[in-house]
Amino acid sequence: MGMELRIENLSKTYANGVRALDDVCLTIPAGMYGLLGPNGAGKSTLMRTLATLQEPDGGSAQLGDIDMIGQKDKVRRQLGYLPQEFGVYPRTSAEDMLDYIALLKGLTHARERKDAVGWMLERCNLYDHRKQALSGFSGGMRQRFGIAQALIGNPQLLIVDEPTAGLDPGERNRFYNLLAEVGEQVIVILSTHIVEDVAELCTEMAIINKGRVLYQGRPQDAIAQLKGRIWEISIGKAELGGYEQRYQVVSSRLVAGRPLLHVYSPAPLSEGFAPSTPSLEDFFFTKIRSWN
Ligand code: ADP
Repeated sequence: MGMELRIENLSKTYANGVRALDDVCLTIPAGMYGLLGPNGAGKSTLMRTLATLQEPDGGSAQLGDIDMIGQKDKVRRQLGYLPQEFGVYPRTSAEDMLDYIALLKGLTHARERKDAVGWMLERCNLYDHRKQALSGFSGGMRQRFGIAQALIGNPQLLIVDEPTAGLDPGERNRFYNLLAEVGEQVIVILSTHIVEDVAELCTEMAIINKGRVLYQGRPQDAIAQLKGRIWEISIGKAELGGYEQRYQVVSSRLVAGRPLLHVYSPAPLSEGFAPSTPSLEDFFFTKIRSWN
């Protein structure tokens, strides 16, 4: 309860010279926290660092009274990590694997562990498949197992990297509900490039690009900053280049075969433009566009 994650001046430059984290400072409270950024922004580097899987060059991260860089064993007992892909799905049964992971997280009491494993299998809708080998699991079942292994042992910090890739809409919904339920008590960091996921789920968020924090705060405050500043217009395909030169084009998508542009402008635009209700997606693109 009330635990906070404080990240200060975290930096990481890879051997090839890519600066993946550039002086990142974030304060993350309990609840659902969205970490939004385009591909290559540095999200996975940050998530892997917090999950104790790689070292930063400098900076600190403090979870309650745990120093996350120096006290890795302590972090691991408080941590649930759901990576994008596990890669390996062994012939071990779901139940045995979960039991093993629970043991690693410090559930050393056999009776308690058995209860925790059974309850988690039920909660993630896998109880009927508990004796089945993970190697034979379908995509949806693998995802649910991923959630089960992340949640076992009641972690105080749950890190979820690009979770909804490859889920159908029904699975995505169930996953969201489970996360929202867990997220009331613990810190859940949801790393994604899907703006909609953050808009629907998160009470606090950050946007990062090229290793830098461009925004942190509440999604609704971000949207409020754009009030009266987003304009839309439907144009012919051939006109797109001209508009991109003259205006700060936030996004362009095809509607009935014609580009519908969202344009950023603090001053009112006439000549066919109509005011548009700003969305988190508008805010995200406004932050990461090169005209910034
Ligand atoms: P994201 O998860 O937001 O897509 P990453 O953290 O994976 O971003 O990557 C950030 C940047 O660091 C990218 O430019 C990526 O190519 C680079 N990068 C990531 N991992 C490595 C690595 N092991 N070695 C070299 N460069 C890397």
